[in-house]
Amino acid sequence: MPKDARLEALGRRWVESENSSLRMDAAMVLAQFPTAQNDALLRKLLKDPYYVVTEAKEWSPAVAWRGMKEYPVRQVAARYVSLGPQDHEIEAYMKYSPVGWGWWATGAALLVAVALFRRGKLKRLGVGGRVALLSAGLAVLAGISWCGTQWEGRSYSLAVGGADYEMVSNGGRVAILRVADHAPRHGLVVRRLEASLSTSGLWFASMLSPGDTAGLKGVSFSGGKTTDSAGYSYRLVEMHYLWVVGLLVGWPVVWRVGRGRSAVRAKRWARENRCAGCGYDLRGHAEEVGCPECGRGR
Ligand SMILES: [Zn+2]
Repeated sequence: MPKDARLEALGRRWVESENSSLRMDAAMVLAQFPTAQNDALLRKLLKDPYYVVTEAKEWSPAVAWRGMKEYPVRQVAARYVSLGPQDHEIEAYMKYSPVGWGWWATGAALLVAVALFRRGKLKRLGVGGRVALLSAGLAVLAGISWCGTQWEGRSYSLAVGGADYEMVSNGGRVAILRVADHAPRHGLVVRRLEASLSTSGLWFASMLSPGDTAGLKGVSFSGGKTTDSAGYSYRLVEMHYLWVVGLLVGWPVVWRVGRGRSAVRAKRWARENRCAGCGYDLRGHAEEVGCPECGRGR
């Protein structure tokens, strides 16, 4: 198209277009006709509202900077206008939101229900039994999260004690990343992983320079530095959910089997007229009195 008044008129019209790529064309066209009026229009495009959200390329201790808002029209216009320091073309885009109360409420309600239901029994469970109960509860939660990865990946973030923790639950696997980045402290927040990220696994993989890696059957441990200029050290553990659920279920099973065996033993002792608690031989001792060894009643 010739560089003439018709083109200039088009450029001025495109500034008002609904179509963002036409507004980008407008910036390029108007730049060829340097008049005060066109310059004003170009400056108007520096405030253009159209943006696209992209993934950050480098690790950032600021959780808001894991996503970025880019303004393509502003970027084109900025090429032709001398920019003041107050003009930004890229802004932080917060991809995380606080973790909902639903989970915490459900967990607390379950704990209260179990405590009420087994009020008497809970005392007799002892430390091992309570740990087993908690462990079983966590195993159920892990199982639910495992199923959840079929529909969408999630990434949880927490910053505490000068380090950033990122837990990714995605594609049947779970990964925990710790970056020593002196991040400002923040509570637990979560983001959903878009389908494009869900297939590729860990969204931060390209931000970590591959370091030492060790692994065994579906579990991998690695550590190294982040790729950005700060080069924070990181540690990463990644494993299949099967491991998490297996480890959590392991203890309650061991504990239950152990209890079952001691119950069988106690019955046998009672049959043999020995103390059900410690196995002390009670023959020749009065029925009314408890076990002289451990004090257990009969
Ligand atoms: Zn006894």
